Amino acid sequence: PLTTTDLIEEHRICVCVRKRPLNKKELTVKDLDVITIPSKDVVMVHEPKQKVDLTRYLENQTFRFDYAFDDSTTNEMVYRFTARPLVETIFDRGMATCFAYGQTGSGKTHTMGGDFSGKNQDCSKGIYALAARDVFLMLKKPNYKKLDLQVYATFFEIYSGKVFDLLNRKAKLRVLEDGKQQVQVVGLQEREVKCTEDVLKLIETGNSCRTSGQTSANAHSSRSHAVFQIILRRKGKMHGKFSLIDLAGNERGADTSSADRQTRLEGAEINKSLLALKECIRALGRNKPHTPFRASKLTQVLRDSFIGENSRTCMLSTIALKTSSQMLSICEFRVKELTV
Ligand code: ADP
Ligand code: MG
Repeated sequence: PLTTTDLIEEHRICVCVRKRPLNKKELTVKDLDVITIPSKDVVMVHEPKQKVDLTRYLENQTFRFDYAFDDSTTNEMVYRFTARPLVETIFDRGMATCFAYGQTGSGKTHTMGGDFSGKNQDCSKGIYALAARDVFLMLKKPNYKKLDLQVYATFFEIYSGKVFDLLNRKAKLRVLEDGKQQVQVVGLQEREVKCTEDVLKLIETGNSCRTSGQTSANAHSSRSHAVFQIILRRKGKMHGKFSLIDLAGNERGADTSSADRQTRLEGAEINKSLLALKECIRALGRNKPHTPFRASKLTQVLRDSFIGENSRTCMLSTIALKTSSQMLSICEFRVKELTV
């Protein structure tokens, strides 16, 4: 018979929420904060004192997640409970995937890539870098040392259904599927990395590439998915892969009639890929034989992550004071019912 521990081990999807602190502007204008996190796995949405459209239908509701992190939580702590447990997976010949999901400005890039807001930009505290640090620590363990594994990294962006290499001046890449259903991003740069510092350099290169040449850097990055991967190879063959993804903002505004045509098209593409992601994750959680990964470029390039015995996923939803409507959409990722 299965023990409780077996069941937790079986639990291949972890769904978490992180609330960011209010920023100066929000504090100055005394913006309404309708979300609290009373314990480590509970999120409460309060009745707003004034009318806030988005939250009306959620008022006074409580949601339960695998973990809920309040605004005092550091990246290191968030990492420890979300991506850290997945590092073992790739050493164990598995596919690990960690997504940051949320509206623009809620803290996805801060969580995944590190802090880029101030003058002292620091990517060493983001989940990309923390995961890389632990991969190199694990490599030193006798069990893994004897496997003689090599570490590689890739960093690319998916924008309006097209793939661009962030480690190669945004070269536009083609995605091919061979007869054996293997998906290949043709020409994607896979750089060998020997230590955490090597990885930090790649993150910096990729991040500057991500935002360069754009009139409004954040407007662009909020409409693209950034995928950072750490790949373990043994004698050239893939041993395990960790995909860390800073998703495009999931705001709804993009498909309203007020937006211009280009914006609406981008918005529709984003919605399509987030919906496809939802369906793939649900299929993974239920061990369904059919995973609809072809429905978007994002799920297509992540095909490996959704298929196979040893795939594990963490969805981390970043939220800010007014993003309570997002609670419903992150709940759709949950496979077992956790709502209180
Ligand atoms: P997103 O990538 O979701 O659009 P960002 O990560 O760019 O959002 O965050 C928006 C702003 O909020 C940035 O200035 C960032 O530094 C700040 N921020 C986000 N999350 C936190 C946090 N947990 N603690 C402190 N500042 C944060
Ligand atoms: Mg961002």
